[in-house]
Amino acid sequence: MMRFDIMTLFPDLVNRILGESIIGRAQKSGAIRVETYNIRDYSEDKHHRVDDTPYGGGKGMLMAAPPIYNCFEAVLNRQKEEGFSSQSRRVIYLSPKGKVLTQAHAKELAQTYDNLILLCGHYEGVDQRIVDEIVDEEISIGDYVLTGGELPACILTDCVARMVEGVLADSECYEKESLSDGLLEYPQYTRPYEFHGRVVPEILISGDHAKVDAWRDARAKELTEDLRPDLLQEKIK
Ligand code: SAM
Repeated sequence: MMRFDIMTLFPDLVNRILGESIIGRAQKSGAIRVETYNIRDYSEDKHHRVDDTPYGGGKGMLMAAPPIYNCFEAVLNRQKEEGFSSQSRRVIYLSPKGKVLTQAHAKELAQTYDNLILLCGHYEGVDQRIVDEIVDEEISIGDYVLTGGELPACILTDCVARMVEGVLADSECYEKESLSDGLLEYPQYTRPYEFHGRVVPEILISGDHAKVDAWRDARAKELTEDLRPDLLQEKIK
């Protein structure tokens, strides 16, 4: 079982996304656990403020350190109360400054940790001191900037969770797909045999598994050369 604790200003948004489909079912079956915490609940300000203007000036507001730190302590306390004792925990701040998420990195997280605590920023981000104090690693989901860390946290959770035992029917589902071995996945087809005059490649209905595998390997390589030659360069390195 892998546990994800997500600190956010928008827990409903996160719960809504992660409560659906495969990740929702994985929560119900107990293969993973997702808990969300509203950082605003941990503000000591009487108006529950969580942000303030940046020292030194500049546009926008920053999320202040104390509510986030209080929230982090509440996560650890709740884990303790529930008898969950993590063997290997990682605190991750979703941030455009982080290392861009890859399939290989998500796999490493799935295999190394039983608890990910995720911090979602908002506005202009968070006070640097909270990053220095509690965060082990910053992860970006791509070289672009979003309004908040909620979608990135859902993406990271989804990507890591599907490699946790019991989430997908078979580990082959993720071991044989795009990016898992540095290649894009071969093209796939299902019924009907003919669609708008386009038919399924004959080899796939030949029943010859060795030939099907060879065809798929060749197509995967071709497709990667065409669409993502950078992946092949990475593989050679
Ligand atoms: N001022 C920050 C900067 O220039 O690095 C950007 C803050 S962004 C508007 C607000 C929040 O969205 C961030 O704190 C982070 O949690 C999240 N965020 C935005 N883009 C992201 C990305 N590409 N990957 C992960 N999180 C992101």
